[in-house]
Amino acid sequence: MKKYCDILIIGGGASGLCCAIAAKRNNPGKIVAVLERNDRVGKKLLATGNGRCNLSNLNVSKERYAGSFKNRSEQVFSSIGVRELLDFFGSLGLKTTADSEGRLYPLSNQAASVVDALRFGCEREGVETICKADIKSVKKSGKLFKISAGDNEYTSGKLVIACGSKASPKLGGTAGSADYLRNFGHSVKKFSPALCPVKVDSPVIKSLKGVRIKCGASLIKKDRLIKKELGEVQFSDKALSGICVFNLSLYSSRDCFIKLDLMPELGKSEIIEALRYNRRLYAEKPLDCFGTGLFQKRINMALVKLSGISDFSRSCKSLSDGELKLIADNIKEMTFKASENAGFDQAQTALGGVEGCEIDPASMRSLICDDLYVCGEAIDICGECGGFNLHFAFASGIIAGESL
Ligand SMILES: Cc1cc2nc3c(=O)[nH]c(=O)nc-3n(C[C@H](O)[C@H](O)[C@H](O)COP(=O)(O)OP(=O)(O)OC[C@H]3O[C@@H](n4cnc5c(N)ncnc54)[C@H](O)[C@@H]3O)c2cc1C
Repeated sequence: MKKYCDILIIGGGASGLCCAIAAKRNNPGKIVAVLERNDRVGKKLLATGNGRCNLSNLNVSKERYAGSFKNRSEQVFSSIGVRELLDFFGSLGLKTTADSEGRLYPLSNQAASVVDALRFGCEREGVETICKADIKSVKKSGKLFKISAGDNEYTSGKLVIACGSKASPKLGGTAGSADYLRNFGHSVKKFSPALCPVKVDSPVIKSLKGVRIKCGASLIKKDRLIKKELGEVQFSDKALSGICVFNLSLYSSRDCFIKLDLMPELGKSEIIEALRYNRRLYAEKPLDCFGTGLFQKRINMALVKLSGISDFSRSCKSLSDGELKLIADNIKEMTFKASENAGFDQAQTALGGVEGCEIDPASMRSLICDDLYVCGEAIDICGECGGFNLHFAFASGIIAGESL
């Protein structure tokens, strides 16, 4: 089958569906189509926010993002900020609610509502959605784009790359956007997993598998504090996880350390006082009782081990003042050497994608290839957890659609 479209959008996810609706509203007489490789659109969206879809955040600003498009994102958010995005969803009948931290969710608390609002919005506006599209090639010949997918050939006057990144391949993540954009002459940074667990080297990590603790978490690079978070950290046998670690993963590399402050509300002298009290209280008991009332047993043992004590049969009263101080140091700075971010299968997003300087933030138009537009995660920008990535995907999609 051969088909001509005025506007063709590759990718039926967050950015592609918003782009399609905005493009069709702007060009009611034109043929607007979405090519999606999955058997349905919005599969990743359905899994967002643990099935609740944290779709934006009241505190959206460029400071919450990393990547080469970060500085240009300011213009995106000034065109489509929270109010404009909620107006767009309002036009699709979707109402939202914010939690105490400014995270926005659909009022129904179900990601399916967001997908349905977008899916039905496309249907209502007359967007053609073509699923199970197995794209073989994406080229430009003269003024027209030519896309070969399975046995079908699509020709279009304008093309939007909205097919995301390699993050979460089970939900549709591919490197397709990078391949297509490189073919059109763009510089594209290799995708790397982000918003994911960080693998660490530490003698105690295995023993802490399954433990969760509310604490401070700091990312340190060459003795410099890169980012500090407060929240729940989860330990697995090789990695640290949890939302605050996901946020650190945006900036983490092999030369970084993650330091956990297990008692962020207490200063070192108050901690030493509490440790001295426990030394007296549990004087005759073995060391695994030392942290009673302060920590879970496995954290207690990890602290003892990290403080250089290997004989766990010792009594609590045998702890010297020097050893107490070392334990207090490890409570304030339990240190893990970062090795690498966990893989794409565990990543919510990816860093990398098309270089920020090659995309016009006022229109999401390519500055390299005429009539080509890019939105969403295909661009080198990645936000923190809390609705920032979906906000950028939706906003950049709407801007592209309105510019077409
Ligand atoms: C488990 C999980 C939870 C998340 N939760 C949140 C959250 O609560 N809040 C938040 O802000 N962000 C969240 N994110 C991140 C957010 O989902 C993404 O940043 C966002 O979906 C990116 O939008 P996009 O349109 O660029 O890409 P996507 O939404 O991934 O859409 C891209 C679409 O293109 C299709 N596609 C890919 N390659 C091709 C190809 N070659 N040909 C045709 N189609 C193709 C894909 O199947 C997909 O449907 C989460 C991510 C994951 C994985």
